[in-house]
Formats: sequence, structure tokens, C-alpha cells
Amino acid sequence: MDITVIGGGLAGVEAAHQITRMGGQATLLEMRPGAGTPAHRTSHLAELVCSNSLKSLDLHNAHGLLKEELRRMGSVIMDAADGTAIPGGKALVVDRDRFAARLTQTVENDPGIRLVREEALRIPEEGIVVVASGPLTSEALAEELRALTGADNLAFFDAISPIVDAASIDHGKAFYASRYMKGEAGDYLNCPLTREEYDLFHEALVSAERVDLREFEKTSYFEGCLPVEVLAERGRKTLAFGPMKPVGLTDPRDGKRPYAVVQLRKENASGTMLNLVGFQTKMKYAEQERVFRMIPALKNAVFLRYGSIHRNTYINAPLCLNDRLELKADRRVLFAGQITGVEGYMESTAMGLAAGISAFMSATGREFCPPPPVTCIGALIRYLTTENRNFQPMNINFGLIEGYSKKNKEATVDRALQEIEKWKNSFK
Ligand SMILES: Cc1cc2nc3c(=O)[nH]c(=O)nc-3n(C[C@H](O)[C@H](O)[C@H](O)COP(=O)(O)OP(=O)(O)OC[C@H]3O[C@@H](n4cnc5c(N)ncnc54)[C@H](O)[C@@H]3O)c2cc1C
Repeated sequence: MDITVIGGGLAGVEAAHQITRMGGQATLLEMRPGAGTPAHRTSHLAELVCSNSLKSLDLHNAHGLLKEELRRMGSVIMDAADGTAIPGGKALVVDRDRFAARLTQTVENDPGIRLVREEALRIPEEGIVVVASGPLTSEALAEELRALTGADNLAFFDAISPIVDAASIDHGKAFYASRYMKGEAGDYLNCPLTREEYDLFHEALVSAERVDLREFEKTSYFEGCLPVEVLAERGRKTLAFGPMKPVGLTDPRDGKRPYAVVQLRKENASGTMLNLVGFQTKMKYAEQERVFRMIPALKNAVFLRYGSIHRNTYINAPLCLNDRLELKADRRVLFAGQITGVEGYMESTAMGLAAGISAFMSATGREFCPPPPVTCIGALIRYLTTENRNFQPMNINFGLIEGYSKKNKEATVDRALQEIEKWKNSFK
């Protein structure tokens, strides 16, 4: 049976490759060069739209571990990345033109893949379909996806706040409480600031270096998700009356209401990852570390994800997808890549790999089981498909991996790779 894959980016190429590697046939629809996106510049498949770094190679870094899992699963994207690498220290940096040209050629030479240079305006009415049209999905298809998933379940912008490792917070300088004691006391970890600390923090925020906006990103932000530094520019007290307001909170250490607070909310069920609520930002990554570490409880914070705001089409995966990456409302349609709500080149590749295998299993009447959440791939799928009222796109980090703690990194890596080998063998 022929499986349709929409989008010849990192995820779509990986999905099509996995389908043919397992013995299936795929039709890969790519709209470029006939139609373009605001970020792609060439007609190559798997074009890297921004940095040519695929991040860390170190196995003791979650990005490095994810790459190794992909390698072991026979990822065509990893093969091309390793084959076109250029010196980049501890990171895997590729020659972007050779990388994309090599993958384009691999697809064109694969007898199992029919490459069609055409925009998918609709989801085909029959057969299994993998949607891998990425963060810049064409307008017509986005409309179709809105109808399919429900208008509220397709987002066009990311406004993400930084996430810190809970173990790196100075808990002596923070306290758990909900405003006016509503909800569970453990819902929010509050990091108080004195007036002097707040003034210094405010000054640092307004003067911090920011990421330049691309032309197509120069859209006015929604009032509800303004970058925190833009809010700060509106006046010295704007944050103290906005996301940093202390109303309804009493610091148990002195029984007083703090001058201002930064509230942290659990990002995963185990509470190992905490989100700085309302702190979406366009500050450069190094600046985020410098400025946010001025919050006393976050002096030594380890950042698992940085904040950002950018154009991004993605679905509300916890509501829409099952753990086979199929749309709950129509199991014939699967999602892959950044549009599932993962963030990053390798994460998108991983969701292409899993969706490709899942689609093939479904086409051949077999049940797909994702790898366990002790692996990076399994942890990403679990994140996407676990109930989450505040669902936001996520990159891979150790906080997502089941059973991880700082002290058992070595064991976490060994277990993840053992489980990936088992998963690979389960398809033989
Ligand atoms: C501007 C920008 C910069 C980014 N920079 C980085 C970065 O530096 N590092 C990082 O790790 N991640 C980055 N990302 C996030 C993400 O990792 C990349 O976007 C990644 O390419 C996603 O892979 P994908 O396969 O899901 O989508 P893509 O690689 O975008 O592939 C989707 C493909 O689908 C095609 N398509 C779209 N609609 C249709 C349609 N209707 N019919 C047929 N084809 C269609 C597109 O032309 C494209 O080729 C960036 C994202 C954006 C938007």
C-alpha cells in the first residue's frame, strides 16, 4: 500500500525513508519550488532553514543521546548529517548545501519513493497520510488542518517561556503557594524579589540583547503573549502589576507580601521541570541566562529550554494525537515533525522516524508501540500525548526522560540505548 507523506522537510524525508526501509511505498509531496515558504531558499528537500548546527554530539547531553538513538534506528537524516559534517567542536555542524543535496538525491534514487513537486491543498480522502508540512505549512493546508483538528487546536505562533531544572533552584529562596491559597499549594513555586532586586532585574531586562526578527516575523504580537522585555519597556511597574504581581501571596519566611514574584509552574508530572510563567522572550539565549539568574532563587538555575516567540504551525497534540501519532478523530492521518509540537531539527526528525514506522505498521495491519519514555524518542512521544492544559512546543532535554536524575546520567544513557536496540529489534 502506498502511503502519502506531505512535506519533504527533515520529518517528511525521514518518514518516507522509514516506510521504504521497512518494505513499503511512499508518495512524497513537496510544494517547493512551485510554491515557497518565507524561510526556505532552495528547492532541495530537507533544507535547514536557519542554523547549520544540529547541536551537541555529547552522549551525556540529551541532544547527543537523541542523535545516537536516531543513528541506531537507521535514520537517513543522521546518515547525511554524519556524512556532511564540518568541524564544529562538540556540536554536529553540517555543510548545509551538501546535506540537503545528498538527501534530495537519496530520495530521488529510492525506487520506493515517488517524489511529486506539488502543494497538497487538502488531505487525500483515501489511504494513510503522514502530515509533515512543518512550522511554515502552506495556508491552504493549514485551513484544512484547522477544520480537521478544530480551530482552537492549531496554533500559528509560539510564545514559549524558559524552563529550568527543578533541582537547580535554591528552594531556600522560594516558596510553594497558589494566589489566595486557591488550588493546590504545590501548584506554583514563587521566587520573590525585593524592590531593589526588582529594579535591577527590570533594568537588565530592558537593556538585554535581543534576537533580530525576520521580515515575516515582524507581526504585532498578541497582547496576551508579549515578550517580557517588551512589557518591561512599558514602565518600571508594568511587570510588578502583570506577570510578577505578588497579590494573594505571603512569603512564609517573613509573613509578608513580597514586592514582586516570578511564578514557576510544573512542566511535567514528576515536577523535575519548571516553567517561568509569562516569561516568553526574544532575548538571546546567553542573555536569558544572565538576566533570569538575577532572580535570587534562580542564581544557579540550569536552563532546560530557553524562551522564544516565533512563527510556528503546530497542533495541540495532547488533545489531537494518540501515541501512534495518529489523529484521534481519523486514525488514517498521522502527524510528523515540528507540526506535532516538538521543537528543533532533530526532534522533528525523530517524530518523522516514529510516524513513518507507525504509518507502515498501520498499513500492514500491525500495532505500533512507541519506545518507552526512558528513551529520548519515547519521552518526546509521551510529552506530546500526555494531557497538558498548557501545552507548548518542546525540545528534547533530560527532564523529559523517565527516571532521570543528575546522579544517574550514565545509567540513563545506557538504558535509553538498550531500549532503543530492543525497539528496533521489535520490528524485525
Ligand atoms: C524560521 C525558522 C528557523 C528555525 N531555526 C531552527 C534552528 O536553527 N535550529 C533548530 O533546531 N530548529 C529550527 N527551527 C525549527 C524546526 O526545527 C525546523 O523548522 C525544522 O525544519 C522542522 O522540520 P519539519 O520537517 O517538521 O519541517 P520543514 O523542514 O519546514 O519541512 C516541511 C516541508 O513541507 C513543505 N510544505 C509545507 N506545506 C506544504 C504543502 N501544503 N504541500 C506540500 N509541501 C508543503 C515545505 O516546503 C517544507 O519543505 C526553525 C524554524 C523556523 C520556522
